[in-house]
Amino acid sequence: MNITVTKPFLPPIERYLSYLKLIWEKEWLTNNGPMVREFEVRLKEYLNLDYIVYVSNGTIALQLALKVLNIKGEVITSPFSFIATTSAILWEGCEPQMVDIFSDTLNINTSLIEEAITSKTSAILVPHIFGNPCDVEKIEEIGKKYGLNIIYDGAQAFGTYFNDKPIFAYGDITTISFHATKIFHTVEGGALVVRSKEIERKLRMMRNFGFADEYAICSLGINAKNSELHAAMGLCNLIHVKEIINERKRLSERYDKNLEGLPIKKQKIAERTQYNYSYYPVIFPEKGILEWIVSQCKERGIYPKRYFYPSLNHLSFMKKRSICPVSEYIAERILCLPLYNNLAVSTVDLISEIIVNALKR
Ligand SMILES: *Cc1c(COP(=O)(O)O)cnc(C)c1O
Repeated sequence: MNITVTKPFLPPIERYLSYLKLIWEKEWLTNNGPMVREFEVRLKEYLNLDYIVYVSNGTIALQLALKVLNIKGEVITSPFSFIATTSAILWEGCEPQMVDIFSDTLNINTSLIEEAITSKTSAILVPHIFGNPCDVEKIEEIGKKYGLNIIYDGAQAFGTYFNDKPIFAYGDITTISFHATKIFHTVEGGALVVRSKEIERKLRMMRNFGFADEYAICSLGINAKNSELHAAMGLCNLIHVKEIINERKRLSERYDKNLEGLPIKKQKIAERTQYNYSYYPVIFPEKGILEWIVSQCKERGIYPKRYFYPSLNHLSFMKKRSICPVSEYIAERILCLPLYNNLAVSTVDLISEIIVNALKR
């Protein structure tokens, strides 16, 4: 059996089947059905947040965030992320303004943001990379000073808390992804966490073609609805989130112990943070070592992943290319090790051994 960087969590099938029975009884599959509404209520309770809109994926959530805040012109972002963070900005007709990252936290370098701001800048859209909180206090200060909207791509950050609050409580909008590869998933899915009833109302229209009621089309919209079957998976999985995070913490600590003292670097987690252990990234001193480890793993059917590679400042379809030496350096040398529930401790030990041997060569 192949060992991949991640595997989706699957709840007990009986529980999912009991939800399917309810869906079959109601014969209601999509269009803001009872499961979707219940899932939104449960999410709000779980996160203790007031306004959440469930949508079909985390990428459309980013696009809707830019749309509902009417963001135009330049958007400051980080080159070290999944492609969707940047592509959503381009898709909405805005121009990404890349600002390099900190080499330790791997999040946007807040001391470089101000010099990237121009008269065309209207927002900052940055990820909490690998679930590690950005410097949200500094970013808020800059946002206030220059009148910029702040959007966080929280796709990887479910279960992370900062200052005893969910990290989703920061910024004007935070988007979430519930894709199958994320710590908490609904197969496909996403959400927007917003700060006002009014924005929530607009988003509910936008996700449903702009309909305010049966016939009134009150805004430009799109189809970003999610289905009853997806919401049901969310309701099944939500009760397992704590257990999922605990298990990943246990496996991460095993990697920590096995890899102690090696000439590698790990991501520095922000202070005052309760971390979600969504990834286990390792930064190697040289790209050659990383490639050797990848080949050694492959021989044993183990597939760690080069996340995130390449650095997004070099995308061919971007008008403006910028130089981000730190992001480029990290992207060349970073590898995410397999981490998921049911990953055997013996496999963690085997992967660690491959790394230890590679670094001895
Ligand atoms: C997964 C991910 C997304 C995209 O989410 P989808 O639900 O797959 O569309 C966006 N940004 C980041 C940082 C991600 O990790």
